[in-house]
Amino acid sequence: MKRQQYVVIGLGRFGSSVAMELVQLGYEVLGIDRNEEVVYTMGDFLTHTVTADATDEEMLRSLGIRNFDCGIVAIGDDIQMSILATILLKEMGLKSVVAKAISTLHGRALEKLGVDRVIYPERDMGVRVAHQLVTPNLVDYIELSKDYRIVELKVPSHLHGHLIGDLNPRARFSCSIVALQKDTGVLIAPTAMDRLDEGDTMVIIGANENIQEFEDVIN
Ligand code: ADP
Repeated sequence: MKRQQYVVIGLGRFGSSVAMELVQLGYEVLGIDRNEEVVYTMGDFLTHTVTADATDEEMLRSLGIRNFDCGIVAIGDDIQMSILATILLKEMGLKSVVAKAISTLHGRALEKLGVDRVIYPERDMGVRVAHQLVTPNLVDYIELSKDYRIVELKVPSHLHGHLIGDLNPRARFSCSIVALQKDTGVLIAPTAMDRLDEGDTMVIIGANENIQEFEDVIN
């Protein structure tokens, strides 16, 4: 199957980071920025780079932008440019368009243009950091819905050597350990007889308030 091709518009801190990670993951990425210096720097890391103004419709057409699977509009500070570039990508009929917003109003405007996903990097990172600060063992988390989440928690030292059955998270907190990341690999659907060792990370699924209770008790 053909691998997805991405076009990233705006190679600032956010855009360049997304673009380089996509390349690391093995995807083809075209990076566009109007700043020649930025494009020159990124030339070594991305599959293709072009110095161009993302609001230059003719230029975008000549680059065959409509053939890309996903467009990422990573222009933030210049809201007008972000919106114009987004309109052009939508009009060209890309399958998926993702755009970065720097404020709620900017995000609402992008949603009205029909983007598939609006990303608020600063806001989301702020929320993430706050969670990590109050829960020292928290490695990462994913919100499944308003009420449910999956969290990755380092096993605290006082639980090293204990069995999952000792902790009994299902009965005590109504949440389940769905995987255990060990040095030796990932143990999917661990049982009550599996042991929590130093360096292990538990992947837990549950309702927000139950997970919160679980975190409070084990920390
Ligand atoms: P970040 O906060 O992620 O660094 P910025 O908004 O500061 O994001 O940077 C966005 C990038 O988008 C800059 O490198 C800038 O040159 C580029 N850019 C802004 N407007 C356009 C445009 N019309 N066409 C192409 N690139 C643009």
